[in-house]
Amino acid sequence: LPARLHEIPRRQLASRPEAPALIENGVVWSYAELVAAAAEARDWLRSVGVRGGDRVMLVGENCRALVAMIFALSELDAWAVIVNARLSPREIETIRSHCAARRVVYFSAASTEAALHAQHVGAEPLSVGRLGELALGELDLTCLPEPVQADSARQVAALIYTSGTTGSPKGVMLSHRNLLFIARSSSGLRRLRPDDQVFGVLPISHVYGLSSVCLGTLYAGACLQLHARFSATETLRALAEDGISVMQGVPAMYTRLLEVCGEAPRHTLRFIYAGGSPLDPALKQAVEARFGLPLHNGYGMTESSPTISQTRMDAPRTDVSVGPAIPGIEVAITDDEGRPLADGEVGELRVRGPNVMLGYYRNAELSAQTVDAAGWLRTGDLARREADGALFIVGRSKELIIRSGFNVYPVEVESVLNAHPAVVHSAVVGRAVAGNEEVVAFVELRDPTQASAEDLLAYLAERLSPYKRPSELVILPALPAAATGKILKSQLRQLAQEGAI
Ligand code: ATP
Ligand code: MG
Repeated sequence: LPARLHEIPRRQLASRPEAPALIENGVVWSYAELVAAAAEARDWLRSVGVRGGDRVMLVGENCRALVAMIFALSELDAWAVIVNARLSPREIETIRSHCAARRVVYFSAASTEAALHAQHVGAEPLSVGRLGELALGELDLTCLPEPVQADSARQVAALIYTSGTTGSPKGVMLSHRNLLFIARSSSGLRRLRPDDQVFGVLPISHVYGLSSVCLGTLYAGACLQLHARFSATETLRALAEDGISVMQGVPAMYTRLLEVCGEAPRHTLRFIYAGGSPLDPALKQAVEARFGLPLHNGYGMTESSPTISQTRMDAPRTDVSVGPAIPGIEVAITDDEGRPLADGEVGELRVRGPNVMLGYYRNAELSAQTVDAAGWLRTGDLARREADGALFIVGRSKELIIRSGFNVYPVEVESVLNAHPAVVHSAVVGRAVAGNEEVVAFVELRDPTQASAEDLLAYLAERLSPYKRPSELVILPALPAAATGKILKSQLRQLAQEGAI
């Protein structure tokens, strides 16, 4: 296994320097060009004073320059703080001040949010060799807090903030070893070959897009086709025309694809995969029927780089299991004290192995609560395991709704709602009411004239025991989602609680 991220593209130099590594808007970079671009970026970073252990913020959407800059920072032992350019300027600023970045580099021409932040920090336009036009934010270099500890700081390859589904984003320190382990696992488990063309629309600013998709593809010597933003119609065109063999997405992307694709969309895919949020059984079936391939499922979190489990290519599932743990890591289903539970019992999933983060940056207390002294990471997710090792995620422990002493798993109510023909997707949250909790459902409809809240409640009443039925069901024009397509339940919980519906 290579020791540092920038060794990944170099593995191809001896035998396949001219093989395509990245494609963006029809422009191809070979592995040799990618390595040369990273070297130019490294020299430039050094010239603006970046040193080992520094945090450099990369505000961008998927593009070749962003990938080259990640490898350049690896060469300097500096941290890549990769931030999605579609966060609001205020969110970008929160991360900037939290990580105390030495420099901020902007990679998106399309994002007005990033442009506003660039203006806020007085960024200047600049041009760096093959990377082309970028903007550099000058920062006050005199007020940097100490990096973690000089030595351990050099192990950090990337600082990635979580999605903020349950609260405010946390800065996760991921080491070279963490990311390389997942790059190698992903490429092996998907049997990636040098001639694969991988669809690269998942944001590289999220660890799923970074390690599992981008680094995994380059580890295999395959080609990553970069797309800055997801559009269902553009994706269908690319699947029909661009020779794509592998696609990884989040369930919300497949939901959108089904809305625009016909009965049998034209494609050259051999492998399709969903991960990052619960996969709905109805969605899985519909995708498989239209694309004629099994839809694989995988589970993970930022804190585990992210992959913990995935279904195996030679054992596709008809249910929505997230598959067995990936090789080389340990998984346990535990009670509150961390004692292992029997197969079939629901408990918190814990994980230990080379994918577990170094910790949360500038939050030692939360780090110690999350990863224990023996190296076990508490995921906060409730799961059960079958005798053959297949894992099922039943929900997050924080999202479990306890109504009159009964457990309500939001995912179960959501999957019944999602099976209704008028529903695009749904999100179920708890609302605290005097000594109890109520179930509140939020729904996005294909066409608001197709069903009313009353219709949907009646539909649920036929299919769910009384304690699982929502006390209130709200139809929204769109559910609030992060750039990865993940529904932001903390916003909905607030909405439900404040009654500001
Ligand atoms: P935050 O930690 O800031 O609240 P987040 O947990 O959503 O945000 P991520 O690290 O992006 O941030 O997401 C990891 C979580 O996503 C997991 O803990 C799990 O709850 C959920 N998840 C990921 N993959 C799956 C899957 N295949 N099925 C069900 N849930 C999944
Ligand atoms: Mg989380």
